[in-house]
Amino acid sequence: MGPGTFPAGRGAKLTPLTHPSPNFGPRKAGARPSLVVIHYTAMNTADAACDRLCDPAAEVSAHYLIEKGGGLRTLVREEDRAWHAGAGRWGDITDVNSHSIGIELDNDGQCTFDTHLMHRLCTLLAGILARHRIPPERVIGHSDMALTRKSDPGALFDWAQLARHGLAIAPDPSAFRRQTRVSATAFYTDLAMIGYDPAAPREAQLTAFRLRFHPGGTGELSALDAQIARDIANRFPVDRRLR
Ligand SMILES: [Zn+2]
Repeated sequence: MGPGTFPAGRGAKLTPLTHPSPNFGPRKAGARPSLVVIHYTAMNTADAACDRLCDPAAEVSAHYLIEKGGGLRTLVREEDRAWHAGAGRWGDITDVNSHSIGIELDNDGQCTFDTHLMHRLCTLLAGILARHRIPPERVIGHSDMALTRKSDPGALFDWAQLARHGLAIAPDPSAFRRQTRVSATAFYTDLAMIGYDPAAPREAQLTAFRLRFHPGGTGELSALDAQIARDIANRFPVDRRLR
C-alpha cells in the first residue's frame, strides 16, 4: 500500500461525538490545529481509558480514542482544545493543546499495536491532515514534545508504517552523509531545528529523539544518531511560521 491508500476526507468531524468529554475549552487566541500528537493510554481497556478521559476530576481528554480492533471513539470536537499534551513544546509552540489534535491509542505500553487500530489511525490521520492542511512532519509523539515527562507512544509504535503512507516522517538512509567526527553541538542544533526543546536536558532530548527516529540507539551519541538528525533537520525543519 502506498500514499493514497487512506483517502482524505473520511473522518469523524461531522458526526456527533460518540463519547463527549467535558474536559475541553476554546483554542486560545484563535489558534488552529497545526500538529497531531499521538499517545497511548497506558491502560488495560478502552473503556477504562474512556472513563478517565471523560471524568471531570481527571481534567484530561483527547479528541479521539482508537480501540484495539479499530473502533473509533470521538470525545472532543476538532475545533475545540482538548487537554492531552500538558507542559512541553515543539518548535516555538508552547501551548501545544491549542495548536494540536490529540489521539489516544488503546495500548498499555507493553504490547505491539493492533493491526486494526493502526489501520484506523491511518484513515483518521489522512482525514485530519487534509482537513487542516497539516504536513506529515507535524504528526509527533507525546514523547517528542513533553521531554523528561512522557514516553508515549513508545518504542513499539510503528512510525515507519505511518511514514510509508505519507502520514508521518522517517529517516532516509539513502540521504545520510558520511560523518567522520560527531559534533554534539551540531547534533543538538539539528534537534532544535527538528522541533525538540533546546532548553531540556540533553540526555532527555537524545532519549526522545532515539525513541522516535533511532529505535535501539543506546549509549553515547553516535555517528548514526548524527546522520539521522542531519537528514531530518535538513528535509523537515520545524516550521515556526505555523503558530
Ligand atoms: Zn500521552
